[in-house]
Amino acid sequence: MVNLKKTELLRDRCLIDGKWVAGSQNNIAVKNPATGEIVGTVPSLEAGDVEQAVVAAEVAFRSWSALAAKERAAVLLRWFYLIIENADDLAALMTAEQGKPLSEARGEMLYAASFIEWFAEEAKRVYGDIIPAPTTDKRILVFKQPIGVCAAITPWNFPAAMITRKAAPALAAGCTMVVKPAEQTPLTALALGVLAEQAGIPAGVFQIVTGKSREIGKVLTESDIVKKLSFTGSTEVGRILMAQSAPTIKKLSMELGGNAPFIVFDDADLDAAVDGAVASKYRNAGQTCVCTNRIYVQSGVYDVFAEKLAAKVSALKVGEGTQVDVTIGPLIDAEAIAKIEDHISDAIGKGAKVVVGGKRHSLGGRFFEPTVLTGATQAMKIAREETFGPVAPLFRFETEEEALAMANDTEFGLAAYFYTENIRRTWRVAEALEYGMVGHNTGQISNEVAPFGGVKQSGLGREGSRYGIDDYLEIKYLCSAIA
Ligand code: ADP
Repeated sequence: MVNLKKTELLRDRCLIDGKWVAGSQNNIAVKNPATGEIVGTVPSLEAGDVEQAVVAAEVAFRSWSALAAKERAAVLLRWFYLIIENADDLAALMTAEQGKPLSEARGEMLYAASFIEWFAEEAKRVYGDIIPAPTTDKRILVFKQPIGVCAAITPWNFPAAMITRKAAPALAAGCTMVVKPAEQTPLTALALGVLAEQAGIPAGVFQIVTGKSREIGKVLTESDIVKKLSFTGSTEVGRILMAQSAPTIKKLSMELGGNAPFIVFDDADLDAAVDGAVASKYRNAGQTCVCTNRIYVQSGVYDVFAEKLAAKVSALKVGEGTQVDVTIGPLIDAEAIAKIEDHISDAIGKGAKVVVGGKRHSLGGRFFEPTVLTGATQAMKIAREETFGPVAPLFRFETEEEALAMANDTEFGLAAYFYTENIRRTWRVAEALEYGMVGHNTGQISNEVAPFGGVKQSGLGREGSRYGIDDYLEIKYLCSAIA
């Protein structure tokens, strides 16, 4: 186990223009959600400090974007290797501030690093086009150029991966980035900054600012220098940031809320479906935007599925993320627990039954029992809102049409899952689901080579994959007259 106080990765300052800046106030305490202990403190920067970071990013952009893609790739690869080498220490830091089990935290560090490796490779493949001109006296060329200074605002549920998924394509493309991590989990972000520095990422290219989210959000969105904002978080805050970005017509990437349906048809491999549901629902204690929120089970297998799921969920182990075998850590804060309790009591009031869990865990604090509810209906809050906790509501359906109608009956469109062994149904359902990402016979879909993103009110743009770098590039068209 690392000694968090001794590791050089633990910082109490922000990274601005290559310097570790204390700001005038260092008063944001970062607390361990499992124990309430203070893990560290970070600055509450003034608007002026953030403006300074934006200006530094503008200056750094000139030289960073002028490098050959191969040179940027080499620096990014060094960052990637340093994260891999330090994965255990980074994971310990993440578990301390975020609460997720150590094995999940380590998994996230590898996942976070994979975006840096991937986009270091993609940096070299930003191809343009030569288009046949409509007349013989012209040549038409298409260049791809970096957008410029970018800002990122990231959430607490993936303290590392939500940063690298934005910063890696941005830096690979030649952009510079100012990151504002979530106030609950800034320490992992700052640790990434330490390693970025060690990797030789120049001053001003990757900066981290902490403080009051609204104030920093205003500086970043109102700035003329910032050409693009990439946000991951709630749809509600996404809307605010879009509105604030309107006056400067900023480019936007938005990874917002989800309300993922998980459909189990009569012809599914039920054991596989149960495993998939557990993997998708209970990861990070249910606190991911692609976590299953609603489980629709066809009538013929409903009771058996409920029984098998209940058995698996009863075996999940709740506790501090540092303990061996723990699969469910604490929830991030008291509001998270309050929302889960509200969704469960609303469901019970409308006829649902608790099969497993249903209440706060005997460990107290932020711990909640992994829960399975049967008899869920579309009238319940749990059907409409993202629960963001370890609660699996089971809805019964009769026909494929009915399942699809219920699955699509939401303003969200991030991830959806379905289990069937029927090939014709597979194509029909995959095409009919109004979601940006669909898992067929799997509950795990995220990786660096695939395009992550949502439709409807779940967002704009894609992260990861060969498409992910496009979000940080502008297309320039050159028309050259040669006669
Ligand atoms: P979550 O439910 O994951 O906390 P939020 O959307 O509230 O989702 O937060 C995601 C990120 O957005 C965090 O970094 C948070 O500090 C930031 N944030 C929240 N409100 C604002 C705001 N009004 N302006 C700028 N950033 C904000």
